[in-house]
Amino acid sequence: MDLQTFRRLGYQMVDWIAEYYEHIEKYSVLSQVKPGDIRAKLPVSPPQKGEDMQKVIADLETIILPGITHWQSPNFFAFFPANTSLPSILGELISAGLGVQGMLWATSPACTELETHLMDWLVEMMALPPHFKSDSTGGGVIQDTASSAALVALLAARERATAYRSNEHGCDGRLVAYASTQAHSSIEKAIKIAGIGRANLRLVDVDATFAMCPDALEQQILKDQQVGLVPFFVCATVGTTSSNAIDPLRAIGAIAKEHNLWLHVDAAMSGTAALCPEFRHILDGIEYADSYCFNPHKWMFTNFDCDCFFVADRKPLIQALSILPEYLRNKATESGAVIDYRDWQIQLGRRFRALKLWFVIRHYGIEGLQYHVRRHVELAQLFASWLEASEDFELVVRPPLNLVCFRHRGGDEINQRLLDRLNQSGKLYLTHTRLADKLVLRFCVGSTQTELRHVQAAWNLIQKMAEEC
Ligand code: PLP
Repeated sequence: MDLQTFRRLGYQMVDWIAEYYEHIEKYSVLSQVKPGDIRAKLPVSPPQKGEDMQKVIADLETIILPGITHWQSPNFFAFFPANTSLPSILGELISAGLGVQGMLWATSPACTELETHLMDWLVEMMALPPHFKSDSTGGGVIQDTASSAALVALLAARERATAYRSNEHGCDGRLVAYASTQAHSSIEKAIKIAGIGRANLRLVDVDATFAMCPDALEQQILKDQQVGLVPFFVCATVGTTSSNAIDPLRAIGAIAKEHNLWLHVDAAMSGTAALCPEFRHILDGIEYADSYCFNPHKWMFTNFDCDCFFVADRKPLIQALSILPEYLRNKATESGAVIDYRDWQIQLGRRFRALKLWFVIRHYGIEGLQYHVRRHVELAQLFASWLEASEDFELVVRPPLNLVCFRHRGGDEINQRLLDRLNQSGKLYLTHTRLADKLVLRFCVGSTQTELRHVQAAWNLIQKMAEEC
């Protein structure tokens, strides 16, 4: 492809994306294709000769688009959001254009230094503990996902707990980790990958708000210690996936400190709320955390993937993950004056993710970001107030932020039918969970373009369809 063609196609693609956003509401939010439908439309074999890109764009519209679930639709209320924004898309485009692989400082100094700088900015923007900053004992790094963040936290904790012997000699099966019954499945996965063993993960009881009970945590730790096991890691969640419960960090942190456990705090979606001073109570006690993560790719208008991961002390992390083959040796690394982020993550190679985050932060400014977060929370709270006033529905828990868990009073079957019909309508997308053994509908407001009219229309549709169930 010559540059002239690239320019022409590039303008056309940007127009395509702009057009997509302009008309995004016309698509069924949840893709309605059946398994195999998309593959059935694709040729069995790849093209022998290169094809005209206009044909590829035409296929994008006719084959791919029907198989897209529109995560950026203002009527997407499912799961947690994976929102994005136009400045983020532009940052991603430039990142692809530069094609940087930033495994070492030397392989693109700006890739590393911008990232370090942004992570320091975020500490200030969210009033996080100063030891998360790069000029202190700790520092921040962008991981691909919260799942990776949990895994690297666990590996650092494992190494620290074994006096840096587990990488060399493995674990002896005595290390025990803790998380609440509501923790995200990525914690269990990390436990398996890190060789801790699923049997050594304790799922601690929760209270009526589905937040971890610190007493139950402490009792379990004592029980494990009594039989010669070694408690070493606890994951607290700020904003659980099922119900947005906020684990009490201060109480959990004090227990972790007393028993010498690594405290990892997973605030994948809800961490973004800390942009607003009035929501910072969710992180009360965060100064106890050895590591902390939240995902700008969920709620901070930055396209997937982008997880911000902070450590209070970078030494255990680097010691756990550092490796230096001859072919990566270079003067900057040997000088000790630079950060090589490949020592802060699982993979060697890394994308220039900081660029899109930089575009987002500079475009919105702190005030712009706060405005959107507040608006989402307000809309969710408004939706919750309509539910409370309704005779047919009930709130399952009081929503702390932008996720509303509710159900029709008629029982699980009606809720399931209602959910299926709503999603088949294509007009919105909701998902479900189970809380206290009841089927619960989840309504999460986090799409960049969601306005009052979308939430209002969703509520009208939910009520209308409920009558037909
Ligand atoms: N932690 C929580 C609380 C989540 O809700 C999620 C995903 O929704 C994750 C972790 C995993 O996120 P990621 O896809 O970034 O690994």
